[in-house]
Amino acid sequence: MKRFLACIALALTLGAAPVSAEPLKVVASFSILGDMVERVAGDHVELTVLVGPDGDAHSFEPGPAHAAALADANLLVVNGLGFEPWMVRLAAAARSKATYVVASFGINPRDMEKDSHAPESKSDGDKEGYPAVPHDFDPHAWQNAANGVIYVRNIADALAKADPENAGTYAANAAAYIAELEGLDAWVRAEIAKVPAGKRKVITTHDAFGYFGDVYGVEFHAPLGFAGGAQPSAQALARLIDQIRTEGIKALFIETMSDPRMMETISRETGAEMGGALYSDALSPGGGEAPSYVAMFQHNVPLLVEAMLKN
Ligand code: ZN
Repeated sequence: MKRFLACIALALTLGAAPVSAEPLKVVASFSILGDMVERVAGDHVELTVLVGPDGDAHSFEPGPAHAAALADANLLVVNGLGFEPWMVRLAAAARSKATYVVASFGINPRDMEKDSHAPESKSDGDKEGYPAVPHDFDPHAWQNAANGVIYVRNIADALAKADPENAGTYAANAAAYIAELEGLDAWVRAEIAKVPAGKRKVITTHDAFGYFGDVYGVEFHAPLGFAGGAQPSAQALARLIDQIRTEGIKALFIETMSDPRMMETISRETGAEMGGALYSDALSPGGGEAPSYVAMFQHNVPLLVEAMLKN
């Protein structure tokens, strides 16, 4: 009898295990999440990234290839916080049965309206279900490296659940990666501390650095809002130009995924020098300046420090 039960148990285990020849199919909504999945999963999964390097997730328009990738996926990794407004429709069109993981689940979200921290009772829905969250929150939570740690934990947990056979590898990779991100966070703090507090003011294209500013103590201003896109009103632009002149802000940046023309106009109007291009919502292609989440900070932070010291 004992042996019979053991056989049944074995059969059940085998039945429940994923077919090992088929790697887990994972879809990540944009390049930064794709990099995180790659760091945790290595080549144990087959990864598709919807909004690739230098892409703008805010204005992304998915096509049939994206729907096909999603139709096939076992696990879908999204940022949440309203960053992928096109995802609900895409997942429905693809009849996706993928499990969702919201990478930002558990971070302390910034309120877009009040430009301050939202009450903790507001959350981004369930970790397991794609949240129908109105666009109340600033979605750019990854710009705080400590939030990156939370993202990686969520991704590693979801991978382990979806592919228990490789759970040990995912946990070990995540632990090493998290240690690296904690070191990165400390490095960013130390670098920003080289700039006197009164000089920590930066102009960027859109409001992508609110979390960075909150945690590392830098004031960011942008002509475009949290989702980029729409042009600012003439009054809003004039106000910003006034502020740049009055406060003597010299640190002016374009973002790699955005049209540089507006920032060039502001630079001409104010005499503020272009400090270069920041990576905000997308990584560079492989071999570029910021092909990974870690490299994004390593690229942005020295540029920010150099430009702010001129303020
Ligand atoms: Zn953005």
